[in-house]
Amino acid sequence: MAAVTLGIPSVRGVPRRAAAPGGRPRPETPLLVDRYGRVARDLRVSITTACSLRCTYCMPAEGLPLVPRDELMTPDEIGRLVGIGVRDLGIRDIRFTGGEPLMRRDLEQIIGAARAAADEGMASLRGGTTSGGSTAGMPTSGGQATAERVRIAMTSNALGLDKRVDALVAAGLDRVNVSLDTVDREAFATLTRRDRLDDVLKGIRAALAAGLAPVKINAVLLPETLEGAADLLAWAVEHGCNLRFIEEMPLDADGQWTRDDVVTAADLLGVLESRFTLTPAGREDPSAPAEEWLVDEGPATVGIIASVTRSFCGACDRTRLTAEGTVRSCLFGNEETDLKALLRSGATDDEVGDAWRAAMWAKPRAHGSDAVELAPDAFAATERSMGAIGG
Ligand code: SAM
Repeated sequence: MAAVTLGIPSVRGVPRRAAAPGGRPRPETPLLVDRYGRVARDLRVSITTACSLRCTYCMPAEGLPLVPRDELMTPDEIGRLVGIGVRDLGIRDIRFTGGEPLMRRDLEQIIGAARAAADEGMASLRGGTTSGGSTAGMPTSGGQATAERVRIAMTSNALGLDKRVDALVAAGLDRVNVSLDTVDREAFATLTRRDRLDDVLKGIRAALAAGLAPVKINAVLLPETLEGAADLLAWAVEHGCNLRFIEEMPLDADGQWTRDDVVTAADLLGVLESRFTLTPAGREDPSAPAEEWLVDEGPATVGIIASVTRSFCGACDRTRLTAEGTVRSCLFGNEETDLKALLRSGATDDEVGDAWRAAMWAKPRAHGSDAVELAPDAFAATERSMGAIGG
């Protein structure tokens, strides 16, 4: 399908698509493999483009165009796609995002539908039967189907989370990542265009109290908050949260990003090391984008995701669904395949699974492009901003 345009296009000027490497046909596997041998097991599901904050690096001041209600995926549709993903395609991690997931009044139903479908999918793999029919006993990573539980997580700004967290956990939520760039109230209000720092902190405390530990905190590295980065780390350590900083990517709605303004992992380390002793601790797992450091000899850690200065596309295991139900194989690849339209036209699970596999087979090599000469810090132009894709 044609790309859906939300957010403001920006030009980064790199070749997008070259011929498939070797023109190889897709191998016979139910999994979401691509032409570069990667397998997608981590599903990001955006469920809205609405948000309660207006972070300058993500959203325009007036917010993103809202997806009409009947164009958003319903809880049942999300449940059905999760079921197909887990049972037939090898998905093992699910993360809800947006926009802000808490803007959906039916978030509890969405999580509940995803949990039921994921558990049913895993149970059918253990039993060697599937309701979809074609992939009974599908192996996970080359072996037997396993008894593991699919992890359901959410990326959120935590506004209002305190009032809903118990219901979300009861519905099947396992983890939450909270986006927080500073613990300085004024800097927070300027950056997010909303004076809501205290409410975010309340949401984080509620998540911890509800047993969602470890709560991960994601902070985008920005010139205006770099100075406060050590205070943010101190807050995270004190509250038992895992803090990860991420280099800003060209996914802002205003198209203002420039490579020269990117605060790098190296800049951050310089600031943090003036207050903390940091010892390199490697990576949680090889496909995890964050490099970890022990803080003052541990056990607390801090992570840095060097998404601009060090590309980790070679280990990417993500597949994304936008709020309108299209598959997007790469953050920077504008091609999208409309699965919701298939669902609504009466397609079978096998037909939906095949369309999803075909979309992922075409996943670009890196940053929206197949070009091998692409520099690690070059990105294809995106038609959607982060908030419109789902981060
Ligand atoms: N509203 C939720 C939240 O605040 O976490 C979920 C959506 S938000 C788009 C998801 C993540 O994308 C957040 O952690 C945010 O910081 C990150 N993000 C947004 N724009 C970004 C950019 N230009 N570069 C890097 N990360 C970005």
